[in-house]
Amino acid sequence: MRVKFILTVCVCMLGLAACNGGGKTDGAEDARVITVSILPQKYFLEKIVGDRFDVKCMLDKGGNPETYEPSMSYMMNLEKSDAYFMIGNLGFELGIRGKIKEYNPDIKVCDVSEGIDLISGSHHFNADDEEGIDPHVWTSVANARVIIKNMFDDVVEIDPDHKVEYEKNYRDFDKELSEFQDSIAVRLRDVKGGAFVVWHPSLSYFARDYGLEQISLEYEGKEVPVRYLEKKVEYAVSRGPKVFFYQKGMDTNQVQTVNAQIGTRLVEINPLGYDWKSEIKKIADALGQ
Ligand SMILES: [Zn+2]
Repeated sequence: MRVKFILTVCVCMLGLAACNGGGKTDGAEDARVITVSILPQKYFLEKIVGDRFDVKCMLDKGGNPETYEPSMSYMMNLEKSDAYFMIGNLGFELGIRGKIKEYNPDIKVCDVSEGIDLISGSHHFNADDEEGIDPHVWTSVANARVIIKNMFDDVVEIDPDHKVEYEKNYRDFDKELSEFQDSIAVRLRDVKGGAFVVWHPSLSYFARDYGLEQISLEYEGKEVPVRYLEKKVEYAVSRGPKVFFYQKGMDTNQVQTVNAQIGTRLVEINPLGYDWKSEIKKIADALGQ
């Protein structure tokens, strides 16, 4: 197995018991199940379906989504699921795609990123991914609105009886996101054209939304060669960024050393956490400061 940069995502610390609290029913009718890949999707989907579905999450305990391999118990969840909502283009999703129907021939498989203008070239970590499509679509509020629309459409297909309820939930949530999107745009108006530093390039879509440059220091998912890092740091300094985002669970020694060289302010982020809106707000607040 290829050794990759450790983007450990300690979502376990967020107390997300709900994500793995399998089908306990207390005599009530079994809740129907939809499986998603990552916790931000669970957050989105629960806004739309409320309690009508039990939302299971593949990557609920941390790990690098680009190298993660779901264990048997996660794959077994697919047996009980009406649908599997992929976020699309994550390494592990591409890995299991061919096996899903073996676990459940009737499952509906949906790519909830459909319609998003994908960014390529930032992710050349995977030998079989020539285009290097950036899978972090959910770090953009604009993309989140596309994702929730796709989710809504798919949920209505699975459970048309409750369409009215889902539609109201979807519309309310979309309105909330629209306002959120506008508030960030206002917040970041004055820093447009500027740059920020991030270890792993997980904020490409966010950067695109607000006209910012993302300078990522990671080297093809591997340990960063010294010469490469020196050049990157030199470039970063020339762009005068104020903030350096690093992913939760990273080796902070290296981060702190580089941060001191660039002269940025360190901000820890957890783009794979359940509390998606707080994470995005944290990023916007840091940049808008
Ligand atoms: Zn990535």
